[in-house]
Amino acid sequence: MIIGGGSIGLASACVSARTGHNVTVFDPAGFALKRPAPEIDSRVWALGTRSQRLLEDLDAWNSNDRVCAYQSMRVIDARSDARVTFTHPTLGHMVEADWVRNQLLKEVSGIDIQCIQRSVKAITRTGFITVDDGTTIDADLVIFSEGRAATTAVASGFEIIDGGYHQRAVIGTLHSERPHNGEAFQIFTEYGPLALLPLPDCGDQHRVSLVWSLDKLFSDDFEKAPNEILASFVSQTSEFARGHLHFVADPVWIPLSQQSLRQDALGCLLAIGDTSHGILPLAGLGANLGFADVLALRATLERLPKAGGDRIARTVARERCIDQQTVTLVMGLFSDVFRSDQPLVQLGRSLALRTADRYPMIRSFIQELAG
Ligand SMILES: Cc1cc2nc3c(=O)[nH]c(=O)nc-3n(C[C@H](O)[C@H](O)[C@H](O)COP(=O)(O)OP(=O)(O)OC[C@H]3O[C@@H](n4cnc5c(N)ncnc54)[C@H](O)[C@@H]3O)c2cc1C
Repeated sequence: MIIGGGSIGLASACVSARTGHNVTVFDPAGFALKRPAPEIDSRVWALGTRSQRLLEDLDAWNSNDRVCAYQSMRVIDARSDARVTFTHPTLGHMVEADWVRNQLLKEVSGIDIQCIQRSVKAITRTGFITVDDGTTIDADLVIFSEGRAATTAVASGFEIIDGGYHQRAVIGTLHSERPHNGEAFQIFTEYGPLALLPLPDCGDQHRVSLVWSLDKLFSDDFEKAPNEILASFVSQTSEFARGHLHFVADPVWIPLSQQSLRQDALGCLLAIGDTSHGILPLAGLGANLGFADVLALRATLERLPKAGGDRIARTVARERCIDQQTVTLVMGLFSDVFRSDQPLVQLGRSLALRTADRYPMIRSFIQELAG
């Protein structure tokens, strides 16, 4: 039983069905395909090769003119000489979040998976489910992938730990004066980290995707600014890395925070994806971490075909624990260290990024974390 039919829930449904299980997915928002808008959507993901390989295995990946490969990622600090560049011929791809979900929905409709547009009230640790229309179902394993709100997970006994870092992000698609040449660019500014991510060109126009995480203090002011003023401010703050920028549609403001669950497994209940770990979008990690949860689920289902749901839930949670805690810790540290104006902290971050830039092993470790 899967609670939540976002990309992580649907990928879990596919791997569970492919390992021979009967699968039902609940999502009150439904399972309709989203028709792609003419312009690239503002919700895009930087997906690493590990996530891409999983989607390929699930027949949910194909290259098309809305998917953009990138080969390098340059990270700089606006207030010091700190910089690091990651390069790899297949570092990752920028994809629209809705495109990934559409690919998975098509795959789910081709397999014998039941999709129910309803919500579930609560579930006992032994997998006894009460649906909102009062019907009851028994499940061997229940996977919660209902995003950060984690409503059903909390109603079923999971406990959210608020990791703080309450911020807002402005996201949007921009025309850029200069081409990105396959480079993702991120600058740590006094307002918060700003990323300009590569998107496919549209005719002879270059495009990038903006993700700028801001403290509430700044976001309240910036939100009031007209689009042209905000775009001009983004151009300046990004040190004109892509020249002058213009929004192609209104930017979108999103609340951000970090959160996790006290435990990811309770009896035969397992939390994965953003329900288990909601992190700041600092290095494009959230969905990649969720797909890593799905890979651990697949490996466990294959390795323990006869195990009960509680053992599967426990094993997956144990395997993912260290990865998730490391990423949450590193993202929190990044957020603190790059916001600080203290001279010693500035010196420290300059040293850290320069060291990472000099030593391929450190860069490989960070790339590995990013999927
Ligand atoms: C600004 C921003 C930029 C990001 N950029 C990146 C990036 O570059 N790379 C990356 O890897 N990640 C990125 N992320 C993170 C990524 O968006 C999330 O990690 C990802 O969406 C998590 O997927 P999910 O399926 O766990 O949850 P969601 O996508 O939130 O899906 C949850 C699903 O559960 C359903 N649901 C909700 N409530 C219930 C309920 N009570 N019962 C049943 N179903 C329910 C919803 O309808 C939805 O379909 C970014 C996030 C933000 C905010």
